[in-house]
Amino acid sequence: MAKDRLAEVLARYEAVIGLEIHTEITASATKMFCGCPVAFGGEPNTRVCPVCLGLPGALPVPNQAAIEWTVLAGLATDCDIALASQFHRKQYFYPDMPKDYQISQYDLPFCSGGSLEIEVGDEGGYRTTVGITRIHLEEDTGKMVHVGGSEGRIAGATHSLVDFNRAGTPLMELVTEPDIRTPEEARCFARKLRSIWLALGISDCNMEEGSMRVDANVSIRPRGATELGVKSEVKNMNSFKALHDAVAYEIVRQADVLDGGGRVVQETRHWDAGARRTSGLRSKEEAHDYRYFPEPDMVPFAFDPEWVDSLACRLPELPDARRDRYIAAFGLPKHDAALLSAEYAQACFFEEAVEIAGADRAKQIANWMLGELAARLNADGAEIADTRIRPPMIAEIVALVEDGAISGKQAKDVFAEMAETGDAPGAIVEAAGMKQVSDTAAIEAVAAAVLEANPNEVASYRAGKSGLIGFFVGAVMREMRGQGNPQVVNDVLRRMLEG
Ligand SMILES: [Zn+2]
Repeated sequence: MAKDRLAEVLARYEAVIGLEIHTEITASATKMFCGCPVAFGGEPNTRVCPVCLGLPGALPVPNQAAIEWTVLAGLATDCDIALASQFHRKQYFYPDMPKDYQISQYDLPFCSGGSLEIEVGDEGGYRTTVGITRIHLEEDTGKMVHVGGSEGRIAGATHSLVDFNRAGTPLMELVTEPDIRTPEEARCFARKLRSIWLALGISDCNMEEGSMRVDANVSIRPRGATELGVKSEVKNMNSFKALHDAVAYEIVRQADVLDGGGRVVQETRHWDAGARRTSGLRSKEEAHDYRYFPEPDMVPFAFDPEWVDSLACRLPELPDARRDRYIAAFGLPKHDAALLSAEYAQACFFEEAVEIAGADRAKQIANWMLGELAARLNADGAEIADTRIRPPMIAEIVALVEDGAISGKQAKDVFAEMAETGDAPGAIVEAAGMKQVSDTAAIEAVAAAVLEANPNEVASYRAGKSGLIGFFVGAVMREMRGQGNPQVVNDVLRRMLEG
């Protein structure tokens, strides 16, 4: 869909977007109400027990660590933390949910009333604040696998299989206020939230594996109108790009319906990344259809304010603070500081390399990470944790260049080999004999031979043709098979020619 089509629609209509973001607490060793392990994959139905299979008589025991992670998430997003809270049963029938109800939270979530400021666009962008209605805790469902259709979809499938390994995984749901106005704002919010969850260590937030799932409630209304339009809930976006594109598609689709004199229906719609469109799934259930009631197998919670304070002390440095520190301490450009601090693993990598190389080389470290390393990861579709390249290697390569041992061009070759083999830069330089020669005496010896072999050029240079310096530098570098330090070669030649 063309960008200007969206801009045209947004000139006439205001989009009202709220996000519901489910995050599996993969940091928890065990499920929400039983001792089964939390892990992705595995043979189907091997990580199950009577509790998460919903067998009669099995009793849930709440996972304290999961509750603490949720409260930490609330503290990091300026939420009020409830001192009285409770789990409720949410009734609905679906084959991936063994109990036919989900233990969730209703009117007493652990966290509510928060907010998050986002920056939209790069330099010259704008800031806006998105309200956070609530963060509550619930249990994840199992997974259906549809067999016989195309790409595991239910359409055309002959039968379905169910895997309960995921059932009962602690699942944190964050609901925003409908404060988001554009697909880009939705993407910025989800990105920022992910970077905060990663800094807290709550989850691996892997959107492709579904440990972080973003659903969007989208409606539009004519500019100037105060009444809300009818919303659709868009699901199945498994990347930030998909979130952006699906919301953009939905805004334009609703505008087309209204422009054609039709009415938008309240429904759940499914984003098809291949076809780049949403399609209707089912009409959305109203909240009362779920017949929420307090979970009778668990007593309500009463928390001490001191307990909340003790959790607040556990809050680590969050991405915005980290970005500002990178700017202040290392003089990094804001854009670079923001990129490095957004991903926790990347920030740790950067800081470890700076620790070794020294703060005065932080800029060079950042350049290597955002340049060669980022390009490499991008090409391989890899995460920073997957690569053979470790922080000491980047520190070493920067030191080799800064100390004049290798040229910038040689450093790129060293980097490429280091990425392939995982060998240390110093060892690569040694083995390839590519060490740059900065030793003045060695360069003088070669320079003297070059001058002696080219008496006419020497005479011309001394008569005023100073542009010939390039000819001499080139000749010396050829003799030294490119290993001479260009700056030193230049200095030595000038001194010999002019002295
Ligand atoms: Zn279990």
